[in-house]
Amino acid sequence: MKRHDIIIIGAGPAGMMAAIRAGQLKKQVLLIEKNNRLGQKLLISGKGRCNITNIQELDGFISNFSHTGEFLRSAFAKFFNNELMKFLETKGLRLKTERGGRVFPKDDRSDSVLKVLKSYLDENRTMIVYNSPVTDIKVGKNGEFSVELKDKGVFKAAKLILATGGLSYPLTGSTGDGFAFARGLGHRIVDLRPGLVPFETKEHWVRDLQGLSLKNVRIEFSSGKKSIVSAIGEMLFTHFGVSGPLILELSSKVVDWLNETKNPVKLSIDMKPGLSQEQLDRRLIRDFESQGSKIYKNLLAELLPAKLIDVFVKVSGIPPNKKANQLTQEDRRRILRLLKDFSLTITRPRPIEEAIVTRGGVSTKEIDPRTMQSRLVKGLYFCGEIIDVDAVSGGYNLQAAFSTGFLAGESAGKDG
Ligand SMILES: Cc1cc2nc3c(=O)[nH]c(=O)nc-3n(C[C@H](O)[C@H](O)[C@H](O)COP(=O)(O)OP(=O)(O)OC[C@H]3O[C@@H](n4cnc5c(N)ncnc54)[C@H](O)[C@@H]3O)c2cc1C
Repeated sequence: MKRHDIIIIGAGPAGMMAAIRAGQLKKQVLLIEKNNRLGQKLLISGKGRCNITNIQELDGFISNFSHTGEFLRSAFAKFFNNELMKFLETKGLRLKTERGGRVFPKDDRSDSVLKVLKSYLDENRTMIVYNSPVTDIKVGKNGEFSVELKDKGVFKAAKLILATGGLSYPLTGSTGDGFAFARGLGHRIVDLRPGLVPFETKEHWVRDLQGLSLKNVRIEFSSGKKSIVSAIGEMLFTHFGVSGPLILELSSKVVDWLNETKNPVKLSIDMKPGLSQEQLDRRLIRDFESQGSKIYKNLLAELLPAKLIDVFVKVSGIPPNKKANQLTQEDRRRILRLLKDFSLTITRPRPIEEAIVTRGGVSTKEIDPRTMQSRLVKGLYFCGEIIDVDAVSGGYNLQAAFSTGFLAGESAGKDG
């Protein structure tokens, strides 16, 4: 049986960074990964382009996280966006900043990021075992950790870093094993739920709109008279309901609302957010008068994307061939209302497996934010998505994984 200074379970961005930092501090590290390669999720991140971080300053950066974001302040103070960019650039990776401060590798390839991480791991001669799911963890009377690998025996270390990620996209290896290990070691796991997730709708006609993307629309999720959240951006119809950047961005508040209240949620789409009701009404009157012989369906072509027209006509209940000069005041009011408040009924979020991030995880109250060490088990550290922190998209989640990984590796590498 081999002993190591530090065992790290999970070779995602958090685990790799922890291994690199502990290795730089001359610790003998064993990095254990259940897959046959490193960083599977990192490779698919940002649609294969890997949005590694965001150039936003610290307070603004933290405001993009759920309520536990403050927990990350010490980790960010130690290793933040500039440090991460320098760390990658030192090994020759060229970076670029896009809209919204999002940072990507210049060649738009996530494997270029992985290549840099690998080269740091090689430089430190990190020992990596692949194809090795950890099946059990025990703590001896002397505080030493025994880590059992499927078919590969038991490995021991004085320090253990859990970096097994969350529950989403399980094909990448993130199947939530770490939550069971943490629970077994006495930690509380905050309710696991999907973050950055699409929604299913009651209306089956969304299937006819599959693939249609609406840009610059205002959407609002509400329940009864209560507005849950609203913003302007781009959304997408899918075969089951709605997705796209704006829907994912606002999804966390809606998931929490559905979990806490079980009350039904309405999604309202304002197709013309730049125009007030009055302005839009004046435009409709003008169009109907000037194009009196045009049929209703064809009039809509100037107001809506082609793919939406048939569904819009059906929902409005107005005969598609009715001429503009025959449309009544009530017809016009109905069209106006649908353009400003095209509504769908949200039934549920898609399962956590389809979420971009996992919300919930090891409670931040039981981890020292200055070291990432467990407050319950000496020598146990956490980093990455296993912790109850999550953010909107924009490079924040990966930065959190890298920063907590760096801090966990440094603390485990330095502590007595
Ligand atoms: C489709 C998609 C796109 C994304 N795009 C972005 C983006 O562009 N920018 C951004 O900031 N964030 C993005 N994210 C989120 C980001 O990828 C994750 O937050 C991040 O990968 C978490 O890193 P981690 O190291 O904590 O966990 P993971 O990357 O999940 O790594 C955990 C590792 O642990 C291993 N493991 C698990 N259990 C065991 C076990 N029992 N034994 C051994 N090994 C085990 C897994 O195989 C895995 O390799 C995206 C996520 C998804 C799903």
